[in-house]
Amino acid sequence: MGIEKSLLFVGAHPDDETFGIGGTLAQYAASGIKVYYACGTRGEAGTVEPQDMDGYASIGDMRWAELRCAAQILGLVDIIHLGYRDSGMLGSKDNKHLDALAMAPVDEVAGQIVEIIRKIKPDVVITHDAGGGYGHPDHIAIHNATVKAFYSAGDPKQFIETGPAFKPYKLYFGVRPHGFMKLMVRVMPLLGQNPHRFGRNKDIDLTRMIDVDYPVNAVIRLSKHSIEIRDKAAACHASQGGGRFRQGPFRVLRIVEKLRGQRNCFMRAYPPPDRHREKDLFERLP
Ligand SMILES: [Zn+2]
Repeated sequence: MGIEKSLLFVGAHPDDETFGIGGTLAQYAASGIKVYYACGTRGEAGTVEPQDMDGYASIGDMRWAELRCAAQILGLVDIIHLGYRDSGMLGSKDNKHLDALAMAPVDEVAGQIVEIIRKIKPDVVITHDAGGGYGHPDHIAIHNATVKAFYSAGDPKQFIETGPAFKPYKLYFGVRPHGFMKLMVRVMPLLGQNPHRFGRNKDIDLTRMIDVDYPVNAVIRLSKHSIEIRDKAAACHASQGGGRFRQGPFRVLRIVEKLRGQRNCFMRAYPPPDRHREKDLFERLP
């Protein structure tokens, strides 16, 4: 056995580790890889029902508890809060909060991620795509900061105070393939759903996701077991519709996923991609 491998996902909110790439994280954790989640905010701007708040002083406390529950089921080694506040969707008043992630200077957020990278020394780093999936300002902020941090962490002259340099081998962005999203947007109206108003908060415009066609450089096929774990973890995020993962708008997602097999797709930012499509994010590690 060689040295233990590790993976760091840098995301914006409690639930981003589950709803998008939860199956991949669970699959790697089950295979013995140490998987970490560095989460930008505590999801303070999420819409919740009053009954979800029972026993919690704030939305942030409640959603962090949901994340802890999901992380345990996914088999994550640790969850780390970057210390920011949920900025909410574009145009909401949460955007202007002084602690809002989207308001924080990119260097400041990157510095925190550099510190985490240098401490846990992940082989592979994953974050949101450049468009933030569906344009969420926090996802975009995390993308920009993580890209900066990935390249800075290996440079001993940058962020000196955060410890000795360490360069992870690979950087990926979680993406939804174009064809999949196009199909999804087409299928939704047939099932009485509005693709412009998707999700728990009805603030996700899926049609925006078909504006950009990201390359897919790695496809992770999910085992039945990983899917089951992902769905169990999703149920932890009850306030965000996790318990209804098989119903409502998510039903459409599941139907479309079933049609094409369950997989997660990634664009590789580093090393620069070639024509080979990977089946494993840890492929060809030195
Ligand atoms: Zn999110």
